[in-house]
Amino acid sequence: MAAVNNVISQLTIVGVFLLLTPGCVVERFTELPSSHGSVTDTTREQELRQQMVERQLRVRDIYDSRVLAAMATVPRHRFVPPSLQLWAYEDRPLPIGYRQTISQPYIVAYMTQELEVSPEDTVLEIGTGSGYQAAILAELVQEVYTIEIVPELAARAELTLRDLGYENVHIKLGDGYRGWPEHGPFDGILVTAAPDHVPQSLVDQLAVNGKLVIPVGKERQDMTVIEKTDGGVVKQETIPVVFVPMTGEAARE
Ligand code: SAH
Repeated sequence: MAAVNNVISQLTIVGVFLLLTPGCVVERFTELPSSHGSVTDTTREQELRQQMVERQLRVRDIYDSRVLAAMATVPRHRFVPPSLQLWAYEDRPLPIGYRQTISQPYIVAYMTQELEVSPEDTVLEIGTGSGYQAAILAELVQEVYTIEIVPELAARAELTLRDLGYENVHIKLGDGYRGWPEHGPFDGILVTAAPDHVPQSLVDQLAVNGKLVIPVGKERQDMTVIEKTDGGVVKQETIPVVFVPMTGEAARE
């Protein structure tokens, strides 16, 4: 039921925001990339974050204490356009420009929990977007490699993550469809844009016992968890979700 609600709320809220946020929001954000750094993390924001953890995550099915702690630590408001910061801790995705969105907090926590990472792990993310999911992962693992196809988003995420002092996040501008083999194999791979099939290169770059968490489908997708074991690959579809499509090679195949 939580999963269904989640999809409904993602659908309505993405719809509402796309209708209510014409180009000006995107433009304003584009002109002020460094304004992220000037916004501080006040007690109020810390309280809102704690509320988000209690009311949106713990009451659903997020129980991993390290994931909950990361969600309570990373200042999500620093990853959204200044004009939308009031909504940063709401139970919804938000537009980040270039027709892309930062996922609802619950979905970020859900995917991270499914990944089952340890502090010594190296992980890969496809779809850096705002850099928020990368920051959550950076709290939990040794190194985060993340690939973004939109140059402006990659540049802005780099600034935000640098401002916040995340030195273990490495951003590459490009198409993530074929992964980042130079830094693999990865203990976990998390994909935040949806292809209509699982890219084989990503499965190939998983370490044994590693997990790939990826939304697969067209307009609506199934969150898919693929685990590489000694005996082969185990695939499981978990909850219905709605993500932006993966562009680049995935869309051309
Ligand atoms: N994880 C992000 C949200 C991702 S939105 C966050 O925490 O904010 C999906 C992102 O995937 C968008 O920024 C989009 O530009 C990017 N994307 C889409 N197709 C891609 C591809 N083939 N390679 C890399 N990034 C891609």
